[in-house]
Amino acid sequence: MNAQRTGIVFDPVFLMHNQTGHPENAKRLESIISRLKEKSLIDKVTQLKSRLAEIDEIAICHTKEYVEHVKIFCEKGGGYFDPDTYSNKDSFMAAATAVGSSIDLTKAVIRGELKNGSALLRPPGHHALANRSMGFCLFGNIAIASKVALIQPEIKKAAIVDFDVHHGNGTQALIGDDPNILFISSHQYPFYPGTGSSREIGTDAAEGTIVNIPLQAGIGDEGFKIVYEKVIIPSLKRFKPDIILVSAGYDAHWDDPLANLNLSLNGFNQISRELIKCAEEICSGKIIFFLEGGYNLDVLSNGVANSIRRLLGIESVEDPLGRTNYQEPDIKKLVNELVTIHKL
Ligand SMILES: [Zn+2]
Repeated sequence: MNAQRTGIVFDPVFLMHNQTGHPENAKRLESIISRLKEKSLIDKVTQLKSRLAEIDEIAICHTKEYVEHVKIFCEKGGGYFDPDTYSNKDSFMAAATAVGSSIDLTKAVIRGELKNGSALLRPPGHHALANRSMGFCLFGNIAIASKVALIQPEIKKAAIVDFDVHHGNGTQALIGDDPNILFISSHQYPFYPGTGSSREIGTDAAEGTIVNIPLQAGIGDEGFKIVYEKVIIPSLKRFKPDIILVSAGYDAHWDDPLANLNLSLNGFNQISRELIKCAEEICSGKIIFFLEGGYNLDVLSNGVANSIRRLLGIESVEDPLGRTNYQEPDIKKLVNELVTIHKL
């Protein structure tokens, strides 16, 4: 491996977890991979060997009973775990490979074998709870990666930034009251899954390590710019993590079919730029993007391609969809409230 390289993880098994007609289907990741090929980005990254996680590794954040249940249920052919979350005979393999590969990518970046990374995986993870599936998610890929990161001697503190349009309730629950993990989520609110109010800030020793940014429908590029400038980047700089993990969902785009925020692809690119710049300033550029949601395939594939360009240090950005003329709601009140709550 090469310390100057951006690493990715991808495995064909991620495409075998699939249900036609469901928004979280294999076409999502297929569109990403074909976009990376089309734009010759796939040749510029190092693909890490993927790996199935051990049950004990998944059980870092989940109950063993739940992990065994998912395995056996899928081996018998699968079905719906909950009204949103399907599975088939390959879903356990896909989800366990997503966890194993997330762990290995995280370790490779921590050891300096890779500069940074992008985990191109399915199923997504940020809604999964300790003992049950939720919101298309089986296992908490990023939460497990953050806990594994903290076991490495190089890492004392880790940060997770979640810009998926939905609150990362699973991640927030799985990291628990861990004062060494900063969790920041920006999300449409009130909205699915219902959690993520600004008052959820962590408890006991972890008080203040959870930063929830509940955004009203319609917030887009301008609002996000202010939120990053006034809340997210100052929170990261104060916490000084040794690595930044990003729950990268592209469903806060104006043309996403499942939600109502108003980001453009340029807006997403601005977010990636800020996070990568911040990682370079505070943790030697150690940053990994983990794929979460995003249900418009053009947005998703271009969004991931743009993020990988940023990780590679390529300045160009592609936004074939442009932006809307929609007047964004004012965000000052929320930002002031967050600055007060978190003493920023
Ligand atoms: Zn989402």
